[in-house]
Amino acid sequence: MPRKIEVTSVLNKTKKRDSWFLDDYTVNLYSSCSFNCLYCYIRGSKYGTNLEESLSIKSNAIEVLDRQLFRRAKKNEYGIVVLSSATDPYLQLEKTYELTREALKLIANYKFPVHIITKSDLIERDFDLLHQIDKTAIHSNDLKDRLHNRGTIISFSFSTLDDTVANIFEKGATKPSVRLKTLKNTVRENFHTGVSLMPLLPFISDTTEHLHLLFSTFKKSNVKYILPATITLFGNGKADSKTLVLNAIRKHFPELENRYLNYFKNGSQMPDFYKKAFAAKMKELCNEYEVSNRI
Ligand code: SF4
Repeated sequence: MPRKIEVTSVLNKTKKRDSWFLDDYTVNLYSSCSFNCLYCYIRGSKYGTNLEESLSIKSNAIEVLDRQLFRRAKKNEYGIVVLSSATDPYLQLEKTYELTREALKLIANYKFPVHIITKSDLIERDFDLLHQIDKTAIHSNDLKDRLHNRGTIISFSFSTLDDTVANIFEKGATKPSVRLKTLKNTVRENFHTGVSLMPLLPFISDTTEHLHLLFSTFKKSNVKYILPATITLFGNGKADSKTLVLNAIRKHFPELENRYLNYFKNGSQMPDFYKKAFAAKMKELCNEYEVSNRI
């Protein structure tokens, strides 16, 4: 049974809209995340080694969100609401608690645009509300034309298309093969759909072969954009992402251990030469497959 917590705020106004995700607001209805990705940036001592064990439901979130959206709408402060930035909006728990569904009803009612970021197939349950938002949302003036007045953006996160690799690094999430089917259904429903490759796994899913598989698969699926990023790993504690990913590399990819140790021994980021080559390669692939690298 997950814990229940009460919150005073659930609609977080971002200081500055991120150019990748276009977030004016973020909403996280659950605290922690049962998808349990080893590379997850929320990891650390606060949530422990198994993120599922620290999962909590924000029991008064819908009531609080209602008040906060009402105030923002009254002041005409429309902007894109991102679900979610520090959990997945479609965890297994959502089937029972329906917090995301209830939040979408409010978002539709107050006419805010929405950007869903997910690894789950459960999003299909809410296509009705997402269509309503898509048609009726009010955009801030600076985004109206860029988004052609579309109120719903849907990004599916992938770090690999290989179900076996995903079972190591993102064990609790919907399998990539199932996620891909949902992505195709989302495109078929004519939603503005794209992919966030965040993060690609060095020497595992960023190999030339796998990159072409990723780009050709998503191109064939008719996505509008692909947002790729390198991996960032934090901390040396037992619940930290760097420790957990390095442990997984040691166990499942021992031939890569020295390379990972070498790159991450003094910091959280891949070295500059890698990041530069990565950015050039992604630009080249986006051009080759004629896919935008921005929403
Ligand atoms: S789905 Fe996102 S928030 Fe959840 S564990 Fe994975 S990376 Fe973290």
